[in-house]
Amino acid sequence: MAKMLINDKNKKFIVKDDADELHTNYGLIKNLKKAKLNSKVKSNTGHEFTLIKADFIDLYRKIKRKAQIIPLKDIGLIITETGLNKDSIVIEAGAGSGALGCFLAKICSKVYSYEIREDFYNVVKKNIEHLGIEKLVLKNKDAKKGFNEKDVDVVILDLPDPWELINVAKKSLKIGGFLVSYSPTVPQVMDFVNKLGDGFLHLKTAEIIEREWDIKDRKVRPKSQAIGHSGFLTFTRKIK
Ligand code: SAH
Repeated sequence: MAKMLINDKNKKFIVKDDADELHTNYGLIKNLKKAKLNSKVKSNTGHEFTLIKADFIDLYRKIKRKAQIIPLKDIGLIITETGLNKDSIVIEAGAGSGALGCFLAKICSKVYSYEIREDFYNVVKKNIEHLGIEKLVLKNKDAKKGFNEKDVDVVILDLPDPWELINVAKKSLKIGGFLVSYSPTVPQVMDFVNKLGDGFLHLKTAEIIEREWDIKDRKVRPKSQAIGHSGFLTFTRKIK
């Protein structure tokens, strides 16, 4: 079980199972093996932390990022629009850093993930191990050559030319299944939607704009530095 140190500024440090001490920019924290869960520990410079169990989301926020990952706000819309749940079978391409795939594998029945680049494939393998993910089947394969799985509930495309995979996705989706595409630019969205063909319904294209606020005494206002653009999400459904 992974543990974590957290302080009142929301600074967090993951504590590996076998670690007895940790060097942080808040000083050295010793005797971690002896420390009880949910108890307070102090660094040699007097900073106080609480030792808690690290949850999935704590470990998730520390995954290795090589390819540009899908942010959590966008993962949220994918889950809710397609109704992903513990019975869902999903295919995704490309895996990238595995951010989307690992999150979905934590809530779905199975996620099959295709990644063409070996270096990214290896990053995802490390992230799977770091998170203790069991339901993700990772393949170092070109998605354009086809998916092996059939009758799946949802296919999610996050690669530069999603329109090239419409037919590949169609062969693997069940009738009624969702094809989701995630792209940063408008021309990609246009080409994808225009090339869908009559086998798919275009349900909607949307972007999620998350605006975080500062709340400190009476200074209650949107943060000055907002997160910039991530991507457009297009939801479609196979009807034939
Ligand atoms: N959704 C991912 C990020 C994907 S980045 C995440 O959340 O981490 C896009 C990835 O698609 C890159 O890693 C790229 O190597 C991969 N890719 C591009 N073309 C591909 C193809 N034909 N088959 C499989 N993967 C491909």
